[in-house]
Amino acid sequence: MQRFDGKTVIVTGGGGGIGGAACRRFAQEGARVAVFDMNLPAAEKVAAAIRTAGGQAAAFQCDITQRPQVDAAVAAAEAQLGPIAVLVNNAGWDVFKPFTKTVPAEWDKLIAINLTGALHMHHAVLPGMADRKAGRIVNVASDAARGGSSGEAVYAACKGGLVALSKTLAREHARQGITVNVVCPGPTDTALLAGVAEGARDPAKLIDAFKSAIPLGRLGQPDDLASAIAFFGSDDAAFITGQVISVSGG
Ligand code: NAD
Repeated sequence: MQRFDGKTVIVTGGGGGIGGAACRRFAQEGARVAVFDMNLPAAEKVAAAIRTAGGQAAAFQCDITQRPQVDAAVAAAEAQLGPIAVLVNNAGWDVFKPFTKTVPAEWDKLIAINLTGALHMHHAVLPGMADRKAGRIVNVASDAARGGSSGEAVYAACKGGLVALSKTLAREHARQGITVNVVCPGPTDTALLAGVAEGARDPAKLIDAFKSAIPLGRLGQPDDLASAIAFFGSDDAAFITGQVISVSGG
């Protein structure tokens, strides 16, 4: 018996670095995985690799900023894979520049993806979990939400909002058997980090600065995050809710 046997898991941004690793981890432990991403080919690649390895997964195109797409993708995932036991809100986006150089159009996009998108996903999935009196929600925020991060003011504000949302929903839904917890990555070796670095004058220097500030001396790898995400998604964490953990090398 594996931790996620018979359970259906949605991972948003499942076509990306951390999301892809989380999808593979859930599938290895028996889950039916719904790989949600706005980038359908990326989601399909992750789902196909899981199936080739003997697991169960299907890809769903879903831009989480668009509520009709969220509702349609959740309904399609439930029809194909069964009721959602675990939701991982992982899709995200960042830009790296001083706050005074950012423009409102960038704030709008950051807020839409990092905060409003997560609101849509919670809103679509929570009623079913409440009816079934069971559910695990894992939100992927950022260490930027906890300590601030120069060059990421609006992103940090969104992720801080996601932390506050998680703590509040953990309280609102605790009596329905639903837990809501947060995993905060530090700098992690993915396309998102490479994109952030491109915003700096010297991208390699920025990555080195990130690395040298990490006590354990290396960037996070997507599998480091997948371990914590799977823990909060599992019944090993059944008595833990409203908590925030950094997976950032110290
Ligand atoms: P990534 O770029 O590899 O993956 C992000 C995925 O999200 C991509 O597949 C992308 O297509 C998808 N996505 C973006 N906007 C979307 C939308 N509107 N709807 C649906 N899908 C969308 O990045 P990653 O590093 O794996 O990021 C995963 C999460 O980790 C994000 O929430 C990010 O903010 C967070 N995080 C990452 C780092 C890091 O250093 N990589 C640090 C802190 C937090």
